[in-house]
Amino acid sequence: MNKDIATPLRTQEILKKYGFSFKKSLGQNFLIDPNILRNIVSHAELTKESAAIEIGPGIGALTEHLARSAGKVISFEIDQRLLPVLTDTLSPYDNVKIIHSDILKADVSNILAEECENYNEIMVVANLPYYVTTPILLKLLMDKLPIRGMVVMMQKEVADRISAVPGTKAYGSLSIAVQYYMQAEVVMTVPKTVFMPQPNVDSAVLRLLLREKPPVEVINEAFFFEVTRSSFAQRRKTILNNLQSQLENGKAKKEQILSALAEVNIDPTRRGETLSIVEFGRLADALLPHFQ
Ligand code: SAM
Repeated sequence: MNKDIATPLRTQEILKKYGFSFKKSLGQNFLIDPNILRNIVSHAELTKESAAIEIGPGIGALTEHLARSAGKVISFEIDQRLLPVLTDTLSPYDNVKIIHSDILKADVSNILAEECENYNEIMVVANLPYYVTTPILLKLLMDKLPIRGMVVMMQKEVADRISAVPGTKAYGSLSIAVQYYMQAEVVMTVPKTVFMPQPNVDSAVLRLLLREKPPVEVINEAFFFEVTRSSFAQRRKTILNNLQSQLENGKAKKEQILSALAEVNIDPTRRGETLSIVEFGRLADALLPHFQ
C-alpha cells in the first residue's frame, strides 16, 4: 500500500514542495490523521461496486482512502492551485476523477449520470469546507441525487443542529430540511488536533441515509418548507405569531391560521421547536388552501 498522504510529516512535505499556503476563505483545514480518515470511510460502508463523491479533496488525504475502498471517486475542488498537487499525490490511483469546480455551481446530477452509471450505489463522503456547509448540503438534497447517503465532516454545532430532535435547543428548520429527506446521526466527534491548520471550532462526522420516503407526505413541498422556516423565524414567539408575521398576508388571515391549527390539533401557543416533522407536514397541508 502507498504511504498515507495524511501524516503530519508527508503533508508538510507536500505543502513545502508546492509552496502551498492555506486560504482561510476556502475553509482549508486538512486532515493529518490516517486513523480518523479510516474511521470516516468505514462509516460509508463502501465496496468496489460503490462510487464516492467528494467535495474539496485538498491535497488528497481523504480521496486516497476513498480510492482504496470505492470503485470510483469523483472529487470537486474549487482551488486551482491544488490541481497539480492532486495529480501528483493521487498518481498511484487510477480510479479518481478530479473536477475543477465550485460544487455549488456544478451540474452534479448530470456528472453522476455520466460517470457513475456502472456502480450499484453512490455515497457522498467529504470533509466539508465549513464556511459553506449548509448551502452545499441543501444543494445536494434539493438536486435529489440518486445517492444512498452521505458521510460528512462539519462543524460540530451544525451537525448537532441537523440531527436534532424536537424539544431541543438545536432543533430548527435546518433539522427539518435535512431530516425530511435523510435519517441523520452524528457518528464521530473529532478533535481540532487532527487538522492542519487547526480550526477554531470542534468538528463532527454526520451520517445521512436517504429515506425511502419522507416521514410525512405533503401536498406542496415548497410550502411545507416555507411553513417550517416561518415557524422558527423568532424562536421565542408562538407558532401563531410566527405564522402571522411570516406568511404572506398572515396578519389578515389570523382566523384561517387558527382554524388550520385547530384542524390538526396544534395549540396556537406552542413554539415551533416542539413540533415534529409529521405535525409540520399536517399543518402545512391544512394551511395551504388559505395561502394559494
Ligand atoms: N479533503 C481534504 C482533507 O480532508 O484534508 C480537505 C478538506 S478542507 C476542510 C475543504 C476543501 O474544500 C478545500 O480543499 C477547499 O479548497 C475546498 N473547497 C472550498 N470551497 C469549495 C467549493 N465551493 N467547491 C468545491 N471545493 C471547495
